[in-house]
Amino acid sequence: MALGAGFVRVSTGSQDEASQIKVIEGDAVERGVTIVKWFRLHGYSASHGTQEPALREMIADIARGDYSTVIVTESSRLDRRDDLDAQAEILLAIRSAGGDVISISEPQFGRTDFAGRVVTLVAQHANAEKSKTVKRTTYRGIMMIRDNKAHHGPLPAFWATEGVRYAKQAWCEDPAAVVDIYERVASGESLLSVGRAYDLYPNSVKNVIRFAANHTGVVECSWTHEGQTETWAHKVAPVVDSALWWRANKVLEANMSESRVNKGGRPVASPANWMSGLLDCPACAGKLYLNAGMTPAKHWRTGKPRVPKPRTPKLRCGGHAKRRLSCGEFTGIDAQPVIDVVAGMFASDTTEILAFQRVAGNAHELDELHAGLRKIQARLSATEDDDELDTLVAERKAIKARIEGFVIVADRFDYAPTEQTVAQMWNTGDDTLKRGMARAVKASWGMALAEHDGQWRIAVGQNTPTDQMGIVDLGNGLCFRR
Ligand SMILES: [Zn+2]
Repeated sequence: MALGAGFVRVSTGSQDEASQIKVIEGDAVERGVTIVKWFRLHGYSASHGTQEPALREMIADIARGDYSTVIVTESSRLDRRDDLDAQAEILLAIRSAGGDVISISEPQFGRTDFAGRVVTLVAQHANAEKSKTVKRTTYRGIMMIRDNKAHHGPLPAFWATEGVRYAKQAWCEDPAAVVDIYERVASGESLLSVGRAYDLYPNSVKNVIRFAANHTGVVECSWTHEGQTETWAHKVAPVVDSALWWRANKVLEANMSESRVNKGGRPVASPANWMSGLLDCPACAGKLYLNAGMTPAKHWRTGKPRVPKPRTPKLRCGGHAKRRLSCGEFTGIDAQPVIDVVAGMFASDTTEILAFQRVAGNAHELDELHAGLRKIQARLSATEDDDELDTLVAERKAIKARIEGFVIVADRFDYAPTEQTVAQMWNTGDDTLKRGMARAVKASWGMALAEHDGQWRIAVGQNTPTDQMGIVDLGNGLCFRR
């Protein structure tokens, strides 16, 4: 029985490794070849020839006599480089080491007869051409886009392109929404909250804020080909003024600081209630979950059918994060009284919510001037109108003069009052927000079930003297303290 190697190459993100292996295994059985070694190459861009080391190893194996047959699904798996000589070299090296290449989809591949060699070369040439053609057509397309000063590249939410291929114009579909998002972020509203208002992920909100063309009116497009980067300016209608753009981006920068890390905890797939998973089990310190809904339609032990009834919501031990098993010691309590106590505590708390924000400094004004300068520079590179050019040069001069005369007072950030109280936040918040607030209080002051005279009570901050009750960090730069 002949011995062989299977050679599989898939690009990153491709699902077809398993199917290639299956095809090769089936073919090997038919030919009476036993596969003794597999080469599995991942994420290799065919046109770069990075599979060289694997091929060298294969040739060495064959020369040693480990196996003599190499099976691939298509010759392009073995090599698809631009260099036809290098391809021929690999095939020749395999053959002169005494090996044979079987390409399942090209029966003539690698045969020694004249016709076979022609087919081989044609197949290899086609592979090389495929790579070249893809590159060439992409390059031509990009150069047309550049010459048209058209748009190429990603755009944030509320931006779209219109027009024919190679001449696409980017434009803002909803300027009012974009301006509103900048104003909300600039005034300290959390990304999560802005995202909720516009059905966007917090990251997408960030991308809108950071999109410089929103104030410069110029999208810097670029494309890299064979180590050379082409850049060109694509003109669009600006949506916000530079001052607002800069204010919002400054808030984003403050967001990056440690005090703005999300403290919401592990996401819950389908939260029955903000209380679920909040409190610790008094017996095992696992988590207590809300057990509500309907009773099962079958008896859990006998399997007899029963009429489902609504459950009285109970807080039961759900064990620890990975092993979700009840400890069995804490048998559960009615949830509603506990929910009422905690909800009542938040709903009547008039403590002010504080937000991390700038309380002193004028550096942002200088930043705004620099932003204005960049906007002018961007427009200077894109304009072909003489009058506009004159105006821009004059504006540039004026801004430069103001920058030179600027006296900086350093920025200082601190927690300062918002116009919201704990009660307002609680009463208008959804389950996720309530869970976050309750978790934050638990983390800072402590919140636990405690037994008093046979009755379960909820105790908040019981072990902390009132004058030492720390800041409750709500995440996203918000907090409150007593
Ligand atoms: Zn427990």
